[in-house]
Amino acid sequence: MTKWRLKCEECSREWELEVSFDLSEFSRLYHYCRFCRKNTYHAILAKIDS
Ligand SMILES: [Zn+2]
Repeated sequence: MTKWRLKCEECSREWELEVSFDLSEFSRLYHYCRFCRKNTYHAILAKIDS
């Protein structure tokens, strides 16, 4: 599992997503935002090494 720092493009909040696949090929990700409570586009800011 890898953690990624995402930023919601609608509410501008940053949060971390843990997934088993590589997001580095993507520049943005359509994903559920728990702050907006809906699916939104997220900028992929960084990979977090644990
Ligand atoms: Zn949001």
